Amino acid sequence: MKLLITAGPTREPLDPVRFLSNRSSGKMGYALAHAAMDAGHEVILISGPVPITAPTSVHLIKVETAKEMFEAVRAHIGECGVAIFSAAVADYTPAHVATQKIKKHSETFTLELVRTPDILGSARNVFGFQGVLVGFAAETENLLANAEDKLRRKGCDLIVANDVSRPGTGFDADDNEVLLVTKDASPRHLGKATKHEIAREIIKAVNGLNSR
Ligand code: C5P
Repeated sequence: MKLLITAGPTREPLDPVRFLSNRSSGKMGYALAHAAMDAGHEVILISGPVPITAPTSVHLIKVETAKEMFEAVRAHIGECGVAIFSAAVADYTPAHVATQKIKKHSETFTLELVRTPDILGSARNVFGFQGVLVGFAAETENLLANAEDKLRRKGCDLIVANDVSRPGTGFDADDNEVLLVTKDASPRHLGKATKHEIAREIIKAVNGLNSR
């Protein structure tokens, strides 16, 4: 089976030297790539900028912006039976990218932002993907309700939900603690464990969904 995995943050440029980004380390996505390889799958890893070395046997596609990630997913999702979207994609990008470094002038500076394409939200409707679709939900409140809502709205088979307000798990941490939310079964809590252990459980859950 071939899996497409998105990982890491995106960078949305403001000018030649500045960008908007987020705290995603890419550790969860790269751990998923390792776990999938270990389970005998082929992996296309579409990654934003992170300082992690991918396993050599992974097909690594490096991107910077949400738009580039969207295009890379569009180009490759059709070859894959499973797509796991663990990237923390920017929701907004600057409306204009300055060609020269922006100079400081007045005391305040207002930035106009526009929405980026929703890659996960495009999987079913725009890309026509029919395989197993897995999304992530990083939330600071109402974890289960938000995950169930995202599962329905984005046509996912599985949502991996984590509470990013808890110290020691989530963004940039080596550990994670998540809820696996599916349509049919009751939510499964995976207690605090390394991202590699959590990744192995997610791949097992995906294998289960795939064999139904
Ligand atoms: O709606 P929300 O952004 O919270 O959904 C998170 C999920 O959607 C994650 O799986 C993330 O990788 C994916 N996503 C995406 N494209 C975006 C925003 C989020 O694929 N522009």
